[in-house]
Amino acid sequence: MTDRILGPGSTLGIVGGGQLGRMIALAAANYGLKSHVYAPDQDSPAFDVAARTTCAAYDDAEALAAFAQSVDAVTYEFENIPRATADILARHAPLHPNAEALSTTQDRLSEKDFINGLGIPTAPFRAVDTPDDLDRAIEALGLPAVLKTRRFGYDGKGQRILRARAEGDRNALFAEFGGAPLILEGFVPFEREVSVVAARGRDGSFAAFDLCENEHRDHILALTRVPAPGLTPETARAALDITKRIADALGYVGVLAVEMFLVRADGAESLVVNEIAPRVHNSGHWTIEGALTSQFAQHVRAVCGWPLGDPARVGGLSVEMRNLIGAQADDWRALLAEPGAHLHLYGKGEARPGRKMGHVTRLGGSAGA
Ligand code: AMP
Repeated sequence: MTDRILGPGSTLGIVGGGQLGRMIALAAANYGLKSHVYAPDQDSPAFDVAARTTCAAYDDAEALAAFAQSVDAVTYEFENIPRATADILARHAPLHPNAEALSTTQDRLSEKDFINGLGIPTAPFRAVDTPDDLDRAIEALGLPAVLKTRRFGYDGKGQRILRARAEGDRNALFAEFGGAPLILEGFVPFEREVSVVAARGRDGSFAAFDLCENEHRDHILALTRVPAPGLTPETARAALDITKRIADALGYVGVLAVEMFLVRADGAESLVVNEIAPRVHNSGHWTIEGALTSQFAQHVRAVCGWPLGDPARVGGLSVEMRNLIGAQADDWRALLAEPGAHLHLYGKGEARPGRKMGHVTRLGGSAGA
């Protein structure tokens, strides 16, 4: 597929129809592009803002080929699409990020092997394919440890902390995960969780947003603060450097996020990579109002082969982004009435518990506040 530079009026294909796809499509529209969204669910929030939609399964080879042929480039907002799906798309249109980056990062085992291969630390880990493997992995890593499915995990789904050896019969534990391939990770005694959201262009250019600090509740991102307060400049630089090395090694084009644990031992800060998201990321939503270029605009720029935008924070202000989970979105009237609160709602019908319904961003304070 020739990877020509897209011009205004071109059509961007977006695989995945959630809020991330919706916000990519909105950013694309600002640049005079049309979006064609492919998703299996008729209720997809991104369908509401797209020029064209295809509602079909991720393994429908015919629909995927027709979709890819109808657009000028394809990207995705969802990393759990099968590798075979990415390969079909790439046969018919330029695909960014590339299929290899997708498959490396969608399996926690290949992802950690890849990161460690760059000399970047992760939690210690062992593959667990049988109950016997689990015993051996616990022996090697000790407890507590975190047992996770290797694929298809998000928002804490598909994982469980093991604190004591007596915790459940190992066969029952295995059954709980439905026989899926697993990974056991040593527990990282982190002080805080941080992330870097960054973009790599087709020409290898790189632009990172400032380091974010993330707070999770019930395994779901609740709050992002930027810049991550109280960290040394060396740590912030190291986090950006890790992200650049990962993006370069993947030959990555587009926005990615690298989630990291900040560990403090004997007063010294160090970073341990938790996971890579090969897509725009929830911890980058603050950039819509808080940065000179939003992560969504940046992603569109990278995928189209355009120059990357300036990722600096607007006016050097600190920024806070809160997710509106489930019924929290019912406060929309009060949030609209609050001066300086930027409300985003994703157009999802039912506010189920744990469902991300929207977010609110507040700019304030001065740099480093
Ligand atoms: P993940 O799905 O890998 O992003 O994990 C979800 C959350 O579980 C992380 O944001 C951490 O709060 C926690 N967690 C995951 N893995 C570990 C680990 N190896 N050690 C300590 N906490 C972890």
